[in-house]
Amino acid sequence: MAEVELRNVRKSYGTVDVLHGLDLEIKSGELTVLLGPSGCGKSTLLRMIAGLEDITGGEIRIGGTTVNELSPGRRGCAMVFQNYALYPHKTVRKNIAFPLLMEGASKDRIAQRVAEVAETLQIQELLDRLPRDLSGGQRQRVAMGRAMVRNPSVFLFDEPLSNLDAELRMRMRLEIATLQRKIGATMIFVTHDQVEAMTLADRVVVMRAGHIEQVDTPLEVYRKPANRFVAGFLGMPAMNIVPFAGLGRKLAPIVDAMAPESIGIRPEHVTLARDEAGGILIEPNAYDIIGVEHLGDRSYLHLSLEQGEFTVLYPSGAEPPAANEPIRLQHEPEAIHLFDAQGHSLTMAGHAG
Ligand code: ADP
Ligand code: MG
Repeated sequence: MAEVELRNVRKSYGTVDVLHGLDLEIKSGELTVLLGPSGCGKSTLLRMIAGLEDITGGEIRIGGTTVNELSPGRRGCAMVFQNYALYPHKTVRKNIAFPLLMEGASKDRIAQRVAEVAETLQIQELLDRLPRDLSGGQRQRVAMGRAMVRNPSVFLFDEPLSNLDAELRMRMRLEIATLQRKIGATMIFVTHDQVEAMTLADRVVVMRAGHIEQVDTPLEVYRKPANRFVAGFLGMPAMNIVPFAGLGRKLAPIVDAMAPESIGIRPEHVTLARDEAGGILIEPNAYDIIGVEHLGDRSYLHLSLEQGEFTVLYPSGAEPPAANEPIRLQHEPEAIHLFDAQGHSLTMAGHAG
């Protein structure tokens, strides 16, 4: 069953259109990540689902009911924000209890739910503290507790981990994923961080400039990007994309008939040939070395070619090529992506990537 359904959802601020007619179905119990660059409309969409922004056009349904005109409190959504938005002068217990207090729940009911939520999140010993006496991760957990306390049918997260350091972020990601499985909740999680999206999501919704570019599992979005934008946005270092004329044709000689405009290959699928014979020859005057990036388990060589920047996997511990040496690119032909003049992928079907 679709828990959340968007039909041709549009948003304008005055004369400026920021969401251009979005269609999306989010299944019950699924963790969906809205991923896209800053300004593409993720927060706006989330706030529209929550009822914090009105809907310019189209329809939003939650649990089968059209909620366009429903107030936030009646939509069964709970939102967790980046800055936690905890009440500084209230204890953890009172922060978590607050939404129930607002809807007039009984004292017993409140005490019971706070205890349940605190147990689920393992924060029982924090209940009498003030937010200022908590670490970032603990505050985040309290914010989640406050979201959980009313048993919402949908959790909405707007970049809730952006203020945490890298290690804590990773831990909280795992916690959220575990929590989601434990309570079987439907969650919509907004981030601009592709790693977060890849590790958390059952399904990723890639957005750009008020449009949905692709919806699929993290692995499929990575392996079979629907277009140039998705191809370039997911993956680190980014996919190399070069014009088909010239280097592209050398990398993908057999696809002439498909007349791609550009071709893409991820850095992990290209390296420097070790022997003198193989690979695509790049003369010394046709490349510059931008730098070598060591990531521990692997290194990347960033090149500047006539066609633009080009990054290849680099054998760990090897010396960079000398300036007067030609280099040879060796790649996995089956890992090539083809794009037409509009940037649409020509390799969607059956391509390993
Ligand atoms: P994201 O969360 O993906 O970074 P937002 O949803 O915050 O993007 O913003 C999408 C676009 O809508 C941006 O261009 C932003 O400037 C614009 N926008 C957001 N809120 C308002 C507002 N209240 N008034 C006018 N424009 C807005
Ligand atoms: Mg935002």
